[in-house]
Amino acid sequence: MPSLLRGRLAPLLAVVPLVLALVPALGAPAAAGPDTLFPRLGDASYDARHYDVRLRYDPSTNRLRARTSLRAVAPTRLTSFQLDLVGMRVTSVRVGGAKARWRRSGQQLVVTPRRPVEGRFSVTVAYRGVPRTYRDPDGSREGWVRTGDGAIALGEPVGTMTWIPSDNTPGDKASYTYRITVPTGTTAVANGDLARRATHGRRTTWTWRARDPMATYLAMVAIGRFRGYHSTARSVTGRRIPVWTFADRDHDVPRSVRRTLPRALRFAERLFGPYPFTSTGMVVDDADVGYALETQTRPFYPFAVDTVTLVHEMAHQWFGNSVTVSDWHDLWLAEGFATYTEWLWEARRGGRTPAQQFDSLYAQPASARMWSPAPTEFTDSRDLFGAPVYQRGAMTLQALRERIGDADFFAFLKIWARTYRHGNATTADLVRVAEQVSGQQLDQLFADWLELDGRPAGY
Ligand SMILES: [Zn+2]
Repeated sequence: MPSLLRGRLAPLLAVVPLVLALVPALGAPAAAGPDTLFPRLGDASYDARHYDVRLRYDPSTNRLRARTSLRAVAPTRLTSFQLDLVGMRVTSVRVGGAKARWRRSGQQLVVTPRRPVEGRFSVTVAYRGVPRTYRDPDGSREGWVRTGDGAIALGEPVGTMTWIPSDNTPGDKASYTYRITVPTGTTAVANGDLARRATHGRRTTWTWRARDPMATYLAMVAIGRFRGYHSTARSVTGRRIPVWTFADRDHDVPRSVRRTLPRALRFAERLFGPYPFTSTGMVVDDADVGYALETQTRPFYPFAVDTVTLVHEMAHQWFGNSVTVSDWHDLWLAEGFATYTEWLWEARRGGRTPAQQFDSLYAQPASARMWSPAPTEFTDSRDLFGAPVYQRGAMTLQALRERIGDADFFAFLKIWARTYRHGNATTADLVRVAEQVSGQQLDQLFADWLELDGRPAGY
C-alpha cells in the first residue's frame, strides 16, 4: 500500500546468470518459525498448497455462508494442526472427508483429525455469519469491510483470517480458487483470472482462479454493483495479458487511468523483468479505509486513482507479491521497492530524480520520524507502515545504487525479481544477491540503512 495514504531510467541488460546457481532453490516449503510481529499466527508444521474458497453472500444482510477446503502437505506426522480464523461460526471441519474434532482458541482454529495426517492432506471448514472488520493496532481497518452495496475483503497484514480459515502468514503461499455466489446483478471480483460466470435464476456464481502462489494478505474479494472493463495489455515481450477492471458504479475509473495501467506495467517490466502473473486490472470501490492495497493481480483503490499510486501498486506485483517477505520485519523489501519505483516513474516524467528525492529526505532533521526505528528493527506492529519502512527503505536502494553504479544496480533489480519469483525472501537474501551482482562487500551499507537507529552518517 502507498505510504501517503496510510501514514506510502534506463534499465540495462542483466547478464549475470552465475548468480542463479548460487542462490538456494525456490519452491520448497518455507520452513519458517513464527513471525516475529505476529507470533501467534500461522502454523509452520504444514505447507498450504491450494485454497478452494466457496462463498455465498447476501449484500442486504452482510451474511456469509462459506466452505473453504485447503490442500496442504505435512512433512511429519501431525496429530493436530491450526488454522487462523476470527469470528464466524464454524459448523463442521473435515479432514480427508472424515469429521474432525476442532476447538476455537483466540485466533486459532485447532483441528484434531480422527487419524494423524502426514504428507498430502485436505481440510474443509464450513462456517457462516457476519464476517468481521478487523481493527489494527495503528487504527486502520482491514478484513471484511462493508461498502454501500456489498463488501470488500482486504488482508494486510492479518485480516484475511476474518473470512478464510488459513495459514495466515506471508511465508506460506498457495494458489486459490474462489466460487462466489451473489444475487444476480451483483458482481463478485477476486484475484487471478475470471474462469466462469454462471447464472441460475436469482443467483450468479463467479469463479476466479489465482494459479500463481499468493500470500494470504494479498487475497481479495470485492462484491458490489460494479461497472466492468475487460481488455488486454501488451507486455514488452508481446504477451497479451488479460485486464479485468471493476469500478463501483458511483466511483468510475477515468479512461486516462485505465490507459495508464498497461504503461505502468511495461514501465515495470523494463525495470524488473516479465510481469509475474496471468492477469491484471484494478478494483475501485467505496470502502473508506484510507489506503490502496496491492491485492494480487488486481489492486484495490478506495477512490479516484492517481497514477503514482497505480505505479506503486504495480511495482508490488514484483516486490511483495511475487517476491514475498518471509517475515513482516522485512516489509521494506516490498514498500521500499514500491516507493523507489514511484521515484523512478516521477523522474521519467520529468520530475525530481531519485538522487534529489534522497537528498531532500536526507536533509530532514535527525528528529524526523523517518530515522527511528530503523526499517528492520521495529518491534511494534504499529510501525509496520511507518516512514522508515517506505522512505528509508527507498533511500536504502538509492544508497546501494550510488555505491555499485547504475549498471550493476539495474541488473540487480532484475536478478532479484527473477531469483525469488513466486517465492519468499529475506533481507539477508537481498544482501547476498547484491554482493554477488556487484562483487562488493555491502553488509555495512545495509546495516547502516536498515538496522542503525538514527540517520546514517556519511551518505
Ligand atoms: Zn505499498
